[in-house]
Amino acid sequence: KFDVLVVGGGPAGASAAIYAARKGLKTGIVAERFGGQVADTVGIENFISVQKTEGPKLVAQLEEHVKDYDVDIITQQKAVTLGKSGNVEVALESGATLSSKSVILATGARWREMNVPGEQEYRGKGVAYCPHCDGPLFKGKKVAVIGGGNSGIEAAIDLANIVEHVTVLEFADTLRADEVLIKKANSLGNIEIIKSAQTTEVIGDGTRVTGLNYTDRASGDEHSLSLAGIFVQIGLIPNTEFLKGSIELTPFGEIVIDDKGATSMPGVYAAGDATTTPFKQIIIAMGSGATASLGAFDYLIRHADG
Ligand code: FAD
Repeated sequence: KFDVLVVGGGPAGASAAIYAARKGLKTGIVAERFGGQVADTVGIENFISVQKTEGPKLVAQLEEHVKDYDVDIITQQKAVTLGKSGNVEVALESGATLSSKSVILATGARWREMNVPGEQEYRGKGVAYCPHCDGPLFKGKKVAVIGGGNSGIEAAIDLANIVEHVTVLEFADTLRADEVLIKKANSLGNIEIIKSAQTTEVIGDGTRVTGLNYTDRASGDEHSLSLAGIFVQIGLIPNTEFLKGSIELTPFGEIVIDDKGATSMPGVYAAGDATTTPFKQIIIAMGSGATASLGAFDYLIRHADG
């Protein structure tokens, strides 16, 4: 039985586990894949104090840091339910159940993909999901943003400062973004917004993206754009399906937390991209992992015996 069981082995989970272990608590991490989204990231240039690193390198360093402490690392295991009967119980897909006095949920999120030919092939080679992360790589170039919701229009405004030109492609015939963002985008000379546009293919030269094809859903006409980058902004889906019915989630599936990372279930804390935190970044996930862990420590010294 653990004092603190962390579910998720991304930056939020790793940080939570280190903070818990440093309090002398019996700590475990259970994760489907250690490293989380960082394992899929090519260049990282905004992890402050490290000028430039790569995803797999940072994952290896995270793992080494966790292994400096007495933390049980259980990987390739998926949590399927969360429940409480005195202790918090986490059931795994394998059939096993882990029991802990407190749990920190750090199961992260995944970007919704377009599911068109070329998207996977050019992921990290022009197909990007995070403007804060990859925007500067396209300085002075032409890019597209797929999606005309708040995140798409925010991305376009952000990128317009850096790149030469941004084309926003929205599937519907109206934009779902807030009016103030649409106004701002329309006021910038280098953003073009195309509605009723269905992206059908990512085009590349074998090494990098060179453009995309889309269909005008009103006329049925096919079009091509020449581009260096494509930012896909059609949603970030929290990995919280298994928590439905056990703790409070927003309509988008984000875990509702307070300032200490506490969820609606006593003794259960949460951190990182799976939560209501407004910004989803490595440095933010690590900070929130530390917060949730200190929150859980606070809970344990007040509530847990033995
Ligand atoms: P994640 O990293 O998503 O980790 C979630 C963990 O939970 C994983 O270990 C996963 O296996 C596990 N898990 C999920 N469900 C279950 C379950 N049911 N049972 C057990 N385990 C489970 N941010 C930056 O700051 N800079 C960048 O340059 C940058 N580039 C990015 C590039 C890409 C391509 C992507 C996808 C993201 C990028 N981000 C970047 C965002 C950053 O990676 C995330 O904000 C960060 O990883 C979130 O950390 P997390 O620990 O909350 O979740």
